[in-house]
Amino acid sequence: KRKVEVDTNTLIASILNKDITALSRAITLVESKNPKHLEKANATIKGCLPHANKSIRIGITGVPGVGKSTFIETFGKYLTSLGKRVAVLAIDPTSTITKGSILGDKTRMEELVKDENAFIRPSASGDSLGGVARKTRESIILCEAAGFDVIIIETVGVGQSETTVHSMVDFFLLLKLAGAGDELQGIKRGIMEMADAIAINKADGDNLKHARLAKVEFNRALHLYPEKESEWQPKVTLCSALHNEGIDAIWKIILDYIQLTTKNTYFQAKRNDQNKFWLIQTIENQLKSDFFNAPKIKKELIKQLQLIEDNKTTPFAAAYYLLKL
Ligand code: GDP
Repeated sequence: KRKVEVDTNTLIASILNKDITALSRAITLVESKNPKHLEKANATIKGCLPHANKSIRIGITGVPGVGKSTFIETFGKYLTSLGKRVAVLAIDPTSTITKGSILGDKTRMEELVKDENAFIRPSASGDSLGGVARKTRESIILCEAAGFDVIIIETVGVGQSETTVHSMVDFFLLLKLAGAGDELQGIKRGIMEMADAIAINKADGDNLKHARLAKVEFNRALHLYPEKESEWQPKVTLCSALHNEGIDAIWKIILDYIQLTTKNTYFQAKRNDQNKFWLIQTIENQLKSDFFNAPKIKKELIKQLQLIEDNKTTPFAAAYYLLKL
């Protein structure tokens, strides 16, 4: 116990000292499935928490091929050129299935990886999106304690992951392509509604004309939505991640957003709501996992499932019985 304390205190001090190796180690602890690491991870997060909350958290989503990694590389380099320190985390809904990850590919963000003011961490793997999300959420705290000013959370536009990312960021950026229908881009209506800005990427070469038309269309579509609680009117903008065009304008939009929402206090209110949401979410996950992992339940569940198959009980009676246990 004593040793764990000493270790943890050293780890926290190193993180606060902007030691990237320590940060990586702490994230590994957070991601570990070993129950022994849990105590250490929790103590580390607790120690980092008073030093967190100071960054701008940006969610970036879009279908595969839209240019997310190219964009994050260009955007990230732009931010470090302004003297910012940038951390990139990912929530990859597919990694829970394939155990791979969207950031696992070493060739992605080649330049940013080499930048000493950038930190890139591949997506955690886990059994569920909820589990992966919790780890990412805790990693945000660790990155902030390590002095990162901008935290980028990347996700692929698949399943529930955008909603999950939205619940942990200040600003949500949707990357789109011109000339592809919404069905083609696999974007659900709800995602557009969550966006604080839509950047139409690959607005270069022959594509520029289409991109300009798409901008008008998206603007029209966005104006159909009711006004946001943030009082922010979502922006549509063009960019070329490949040719580094329109990237500075996106940063300017984000700064405008922060200015507005800081002034009208929405910024902090949203973070408070997110914290409450994560409290409930964590309890739900923990209760669920405690329940299903209890040896007694594991054994009885099999029996009850068999009884259901044999038509000897109802699902409700079986559930009630197991919950009472
Ligand atoms: P991701 O799957 O969303 O991460 O997309 P990538 O960043 O891997 O990009 C997919 C492809 O689109 C790559 O071949 C990129 O070089 C290309 N690409 C990305 N951004 C741009 C851009 O702004 N303009 C053009 N012409 N191509 C781009």
